[in-house]
Amino acid sequence: MKLNINNKFTNELPADALDSNETRQVAGAAFSYVNPVKPKKPCLIHVSKELAESVGISLEEIKSDAFLTIFSGKTILEKTKPYAMAYAGHQFGNWAGQLGDGRAITLFEAIHNNRSTMFQLKGAGKTPYSRSGDGLAVLRSSIREHLCSEAMFHLGVPTTRSLALFTSGDMVLRDILYNGNPAYEKGAIVCRTASSFIRFGNFELFASQNDIKNLQLLTDYTIKHYFSEINSVGKEKYLEFFETVADKTREMIVHWQRVGFVHGVMNTDNMSIHGITIDYGPYGWLEDFNPNWTPNTTDNQYKRYRFGNQPQIAQWNLLQLANALFPLIEEAKPLEKILNDFPIKYEADYIEMMHSKLGFEFSSETSKNIINLLTQNLQLTETDMTIFFRSLSLVSKVDSVENAFEKIATSFYKLEEVKDSVYDTWMYWFTLYINQLKLENQSDSERKKTMNLVNPKYVLRNYMAQLAIDAADKEDYNLVNELYEMLLKPYNEQKQYEKWFAKRPDWARYKVGCSALSCSS
Ligand code: AMP
Ligand code: MG
Repeated sequence: MKLNINNKFTNELPADALDSNETRQVAGAAFSYVNPVKPKKPCLIHVSKELAESVGISLEEIKSDAFLTIFSGKTILEKTKPYAMAYAGHQFGNWAGQLGDGRAITLFEAIHNNRSTMFQLKGAGKTPYSRSGDGLAVLRSSIREHLCSEAMFHLGVPTTRSLALFTSGDMVLRDILYNGNPAYEKGAIVCRTASSFIRFGNFELFASQNDIKNLQLLTDYTIKHYFSEINSVGKEKYLEFFETVADKTREMIVHWQRVGFVHGVMNTDNMSIHGITIDYGPYGWLEDFNPNWTPNTTDNQYKRYRFGNQPQIAQWNLLQLANALFPLIEEAKPLEKILNDFPIKYEADYIEMMHSKLGFEFSSETSKNIINLLTQNLQLTETDMTIFFRSLSLVSKVDSVENAFEKIATSFYKLEEVKDSVYDTWMYWFTLYINQLKLENQSDSERKKTMNLVNPKYVLRNYMAQLAIDAADKEDYNLVNELYEMLLKPYNEQKQYEKWFAKRPDWARYKVGCSALSCSS
């Protein structure tokens, strides 16, 4: 394998003086050198071929022993020195101090076609930042990260990606429900990629240590390599940087709301500085449209990270980043302005996105009202978000309201209840909707085409990932493959996968992993 290695992160930023993996507080360093633990018997379960090729790894090379051993952490590529990144963060609204890569180890950075990529193993053993953890990952959470990051990418949502999924051949002890019943599970390793894995928390760490020199070094580094469009200097430069991060973060959240993705753990250590989705833990997909839903059982009481709260949390997290960058700017007003503009800009973007989901070309008071009423209607009874929006594109300008309703009727979990109690409300909404369509220039078929580009037909429903996990536990990886293939083209009609365009089955409603998940991974 000929990779064009260029380790700019470790070349340009300060290293921890120690290079053991002993748990410790680290100061004055952006990372610590640490070697991955050697997996007992690594086995390649799945590889994202299209990603591999885009980073300069050929289909032949994927099959090689070198690929298996390097990307599972068993051997270290020559002239490279793996490391764990240091960062801090706010978890569930509270300052948590130093966190860092407790079970992620970056192998190296490589350049292909002028694009630089970091290759990072998740589940490769202890680092100085592992605290009481073992640094390992289990198969179920690794399948979830591998499939979902690729699914998100193909949905057009900014995200880290997943190159390959391996079982390690080691067994890992986990107490899934945190109820005193630990059990051994299959260990696994994911090799994920991104232009960088720098988080809000990397800046918070230096700020909390009052290490302004390194805070500035890290910020200058990030701007130089990833925000080259910024050409102002001094305080202006850092302000522009913050504003760009706020913009990118907002764009990411609009995408999450568009496809019904709930991150589940939006702590500041899980917020990428690039506005890409990072750290797939107890995430989930909305089945019924419920803004109060969170997949994370750890967050059940306050539901801080519920679907409808994601924009507000993004703003709160940006406030923490603003605090961290403050020593470089020393003026609160312009930072406050960017933060106060965030919800205003978000609202405008959200409305525009919802217009596209409904197939409206132009915005008016009426169209906005139709969107508001729809948001209310979708919550009257359980209504499947994905099926509703996908089916809505079938509605025609010449449909009667009753006909239009029949076209989306499969999205209701309890159709009888709808017909008994809220049918008139829906009839009223469809009257408004069809009237609005009549005012539009687009033909029915043109509208259907554009709506289908923003309303996915297939998403990685929680129970689907769980079925793939249950089979994989018995060493049957067919479903991992099938879901991966299907999710490469989430906006396309794919006849062979029609069975996955379906509401969550009843058995999955309360099954562990299918609806609610703990942080155990
Ligand atoms: P998360 O909530 O998954 O983003 O993790 C929060 C922090 O805990 C990060 O610093 C992780 O690296 C660390 N962590 C999570 N799981 C483990 C584990 N099994 N071993 C070591 N560190 C972990
Ligand atoms: Mg994390």
